[in-house]
Amino acid sequence: MHYTGTIWRPPYEASSLLLEVTAGCTHHNCKFCTLYDDLPFKFRKSPMEDIEADLKEAKNLYCGWLGRQVSRVFLTGANPFVLSFHHLMEISERIKKYFPENRTIGCFARITDVTSKTDEELLALRKAGYDGLTIGMETGDDDALRFMNKGYVSSDLIEQCQRLDRAGISYSFFYLTSISGAGRGEIGARLTAGVCNQLHPILIGANMLTIYPESALYTEIQRGTWTEESEIEKYKEIRTLVDHLEIPTTFAALGASNAFQLYGVLPQDKAKLLKELDTIIETASEAELRQYRTRLPHL
Ligand code: SF4
Repeated sequence: MHYTGTIWRPPYEASSLLLEVTAGCTHHNCKFCTLYDDLPFKFRKSPMEDIEADLKEAKNLYCGWLGRQVSRVFLTGANPFVLSFHHLMEISERIKKYFPENRTIGCFARITDVTSKTDEELLALRKAGYDGLTIGMETGDDDALRFMNKGYVSSDLIEQCQRLDRAGISYSFFYLTSISGAGRGEIGARLTAGVCNQLHPILIGANMLTIYPESALYTEIQRGTWTEESEIEKYKEIRTLVDHLEIPTTFAALGASNAFQLYGVLPQDKAKLLKELDTIIETASEAELRQYRTRLPHL
């Protein structure tokens, strides 16, 4: 299989076939992000040949050695949904050729990748199997989105995700706890809940901001232009988010950036999640949580 650099995938794509169609990120500009620093965005030179070779190899492995079928393919790269409608359709046809039993195709997507598709194209992509996109919304706090150079604001999130809703393409959000900075986390959480409550994310996955010296955000902190929340504040922020979510969705904080793992289906598990968060807020040690964060290797 052709894989370039570190391959990132959401935890819930663990059993999906990972297929590289892009590498790196087209935006590459968020102040907190160091994920693809070593890798400029590229669409591989002979993409269809490489993709076809990978599908052939995967077919031999899955259907030959492992004797199993593929029901979901996850396209790797920071935002493969940026590819043109025609490229995405071509990729889905190749997947169908090797894995006719495959049901859906997922990938990471930026909101701006949705903007560039027409409503008709989104409908055709859904028909071709594209479903279950993972979008790094980060927050509904426009000040934070602008400061971090995310490249869109909350009204774009709402507009484009409502287009996905209409096309029947489901999506999950990644929320970035602490992106609003010290003293503003709970405001950011309320604004985020306000955005999510107008949409239909199947899952909201919270990751905690973990700042590395290579990031532009680290430089902002050194300059004194941005301050990180305390670790306990981060849990208060998550509590506010969960408390203000009014839609049926799944809330998860399962990645390594979360010292405590949280998972629940809303609304039925809201009380349980709030109780767990209250216990953390009342009993966890700021020093120990801080130590956990400073010891985290690159995410
Ligand atoms: S957070 Fe996502 S969109 Fe922003 S630079 Fe990193 S990979 Fe690209």
